[in-house]
Amino acid sequence: MEAQSPGGTPLPDWHTLSAEEVEREVGADLSGLSTGEAEARLQRYGKNVLREEARESRLQVFLQQFKSVLIVILIIAAAASFLAGEPLDAAAILIIVVLNAILGYSQEWQAGEAIEALRKMLVQHAVVVRDGERREIDASGMVPGDLVLLEMGERVPADIYIVEATSLEVDEAPLTGESSPVDKAPGRLPAGTPLAERSNMAFAGTTVVNGHGRGFVVATGMETEFGQIAGLSQRVADETTPLARQMDRLGRDLGLIALGIAALVVVVGLLQQRGLLEMFLVGVSLAVAVIPEGLPAVVTLTLAIGIKTMMRRNCLIRHLPASETLGAVSVICTDKTGTLTRNEMAVVRVRTADTEVAVTGAGYLPIGEFLAGEKPVDPLADPGLRQFLRTVLLCNHATLALEEGGWRVFGTPTEGALVVAAEKAGLSRDDAPEPEKEFSFNSTRKRMTIIYPEGEGDVAHMKGAPEVLLARSSRVLRGGSVVPLTDELRDALLAELDEYASQGLRVLGAACRTLPAGIEWTADTVETDLVFLGFAGIVDPPRPEAAEAIRLCRSAGIDVIMITGDNPLTASAIARDLGLSSEGALTGAELEALGDDELEERLKTTKVLSRVTAEHKLRVIDVLSRDRQVIAMTGDGVNDAPALKKASIGIAMGIKGTDAAKESSDMVLVDDNFASIVAGVEEGRREYDNISRFTRYLLSSNVGEIVAIVGALLLGLPLILIPVQILWINLVTDGLTALALGLEPAEQDVMQRRPRDPQESILTRSAYLVILILGVWLGLLTIYVFMGLYAVDLDRARTMAFTGLIIFELYNVLNFRSFRFPLHRIGFFSNPALILAILGSLALQALVVYVPIFNAFLGTAPLTFADWGLLALLGLPVLLAGEVYKILRLRVRSGSPASS
Ligand code: ATP
Repeated sequence: MEAQSPGGTPLPDWHTLSAEEVEREVGADLSGLSTGEAEARLQRYGKNVLREEARESRLQVFLQQFKSVLIVILIIAAAASFLAGEPLDAAAILIIVVLNAILGYSQEWQAGEAIEALRKMLVQHAVVVRDGERREIDASGMVPGDLVLLEMGERVPADIYIVEATSLEVDEAPLTGESSPVDKAPGRLPAGTPLAERSNMAFAGTTVVNGHGRGFVVATGMETEFGQIAGLSQRVADETTPLARQMDRLGRDLGLIALGIAALVVVVGLLQQRGLLEMFLVGVSLAVAVIPEGLPAVVTLTLAIGIKTMMRRNCLIRHLPASETLGAVSVICTDKTGTLTRNEMAVVRVRTADTEVAVTGAGYLPIGEFLAGEKPVDPLADPGLRQFLRTVLLCNHATLALEEGGWRVFGTPTEGALVVAAEKAGLSRDDAPEPEKEFSFNSTRKRMTIIYPEGEGDVAHMKGAPEVLLARSSRVLRGGSVVPLTDELRDALLAELDEYASQGLRVLGAACRTLPAGIEWTADTVETDLVFLGFAGIVDPPRPEAAEAIRLCRSAGIDVIMITGDNPLTASAIARDLGLSSEGALTGAELEALGDDELEERLKTTKVLSRVTAEHKLRVIDVLSRDRQVIAMTGDGVNDAPALKKASIGIAMGIKGTDAAKESSDMVLVDDNFASIVAGVEEGRREYDNISRFTRYLLSSNVGEIVAIVGALLLGLPLILIPVQILWINLVTDGLTALALGLEPAEQDVMQRRPRDPQESILTRSAYLVILILGVWLGLLTIYVFMGLYAVDLDRARTMAFTGLIIFELYNVLNFRSFRFPLHRIGFFSNPALILAILGSLALQALVVYVPIFNAFLGTAPLTFADWGLLALLGLPVLLAGEVYKILRLRVRSGSPASS
């Protein structure tokens, strides 16, 4: 079927048209649309979004809850009870089944909502021209006719007809499968040109990997090629986390154990010549007792709440497993610029072959002086300075604009700082001719060049790492004329460069060249035989909070390695400022010369890697992961995408990161701030601790139930707890307290322990021991309560056992708040949710014991005040024992009785 415009007329084959024809067709020109027109078009064409796959409906989510084996067992149990003439039992079980489904439904729906909310936060931005001005808008608001600016690293936001391109290359793999980047340039193409060869079009869903360009939006949303062929949505994949898989396995294992024990007990019971129906009920009770029904719900809810908490700490989790991996991170490889430093740059010194000047001023305000010594100078009167400033301004994409909050830079801060310096001198790019060609910057080249027509010929303006430029320069501008660059001057400049860098300044050089007529323009032919102009020293102060975060990492056993494209001396100076050792620092070139084993050894002590490229980052990950390290790696550029994918957790910068980096990451660092990564790690550790706390707590409760049931059976007593009562404990009272345990604040020393081993199971051997000891204790205590009463009044005896077990559990939950610290150390009231959960559980139990309808359903009978008192007294030692154990252990460990 031929594509149609919303008006019903067939859409043209855009690639066959000229730029003028496209302008006519989309009703727009190079001054962009007006805001009013854009709004009208948005109404007409709809938002620029791909149709989302419909989320599962509420009913579907609810019905899914009935798929588990446990539910099937319970429904059979209910049917059996009904047939055996116990309609109330049957109804009670069914009510619990529905309650379980409602709980499961609400937690799953909530988790879905959290993920949905995250998806919405991953909005894409695009730069368009509206009302004749450049504006950054949410890509969903783009309409056909919008004039879009495409920059390196951006995801193409719609289908675009290109009218201007400078070295524009696009990765079209998501659309065509073609893995190498495709060159894009304006100009009409013959009809029938296949999609993959339409070089005058940039398609939605592809990524700009080089250069920049402009073009008109010709199709948005589902009308784009991407929307039409795929109908795909940009969903964040719903992945399971390693922890969730561990939990699933645990659930399955417990299910099998449940069946085994239940079958065995039924056989024993039958041998004891008990009735078939009674034994059937015992079997069902046991199956219910073994499985921690509340656990999956509590885990999912805790993770969902955790994602929101991470977001508050500026860590936007893109893949669920990331929140867990974050807690296990053992080494963080971080960029310097913008992550450890503020990325608020300003040129403070400029060195040319003739002179050195200091530059004054504040922020991006383009007002300041050039001082030689103490004396102000006019930079435009000095030919060397003037040419230096002109070149860094022309070889530049940043623009400066006055906005409400002050001056703002569009573009990178490094380039912005250079524009500000040039404007302080009174230069402007307004009257510059259109550039003819560009060789873009990337962190491997460490330089960029833009060619402009000048007079009769063409001049290449270049900026980049000074040593890279010096190596390509044969001449220098000195005393207003171009003279050969002597070795002596080269060495003097390099020495001065080192001096700048040792002060932590970021140093950027400039060079230019009048191009000989008739040469072919390639990076190799153009970027050689240059005239060196000088370099600028740019300050980029370290973030104050980064030093503290690095200290925290050290105490938490996490290695921090600064991996930067910047100069080794600059990197080392900044590292020292931040309290990172610069000893044994390596450059990319040195790293290449090392074998894997040597590098592995060196990385144990090296904290600074400078002048590295994206390939070096990959190698570092390879070598570090030999040691089973859990590696967090930050990145922002297009080139960083492979490293971000390869690291255990790839972290893309939220502000300066490209779309390409964000899409390859597991987590986006909203504020680009290193300290937020560390906050995320702390949160990850807290979550993991809490999940292991409530898992152990719930399992100890299950052991208690099993011991009570099996023990009573072996002692020849009647069934001690009926299935509904066990379900009530597992789902309601334990569920509440377990959920509250998930909100436990981080332990005081959460960042003073070494990272956990990612292979380690959440249930260690000592965990099993604690679960077993406490479980057996609670089980025996429950039997004890039951034994004294069952012969007199079975219902009351069961109610005592039932209520007793709950009260014992409420003491027990306090044991699990910390595995190491007694309550007075963590604070009785430091988890208010748990206090509420305990009071809530008691209130619910009172309801069950005293309200007649619950008596009927849950087989309970009213208790006296003394009964409650007795149970409270009997349970107290459970807590006391835990406390005494922790206090003693702390004393033994610290070696001195006074220090705990
Ligand atoms: P980090 O890797 O910590 O973010 P970085 O920004 O210095 O630090 P790159 O972006 O890889 O790392 O830059 C490497 C070098 O390239 C810089 O030290 C600088 O000399 C040079 N450089 C950076 N930006 C530009 C630019 N826009 N144009 C020309 N050269 C640049």
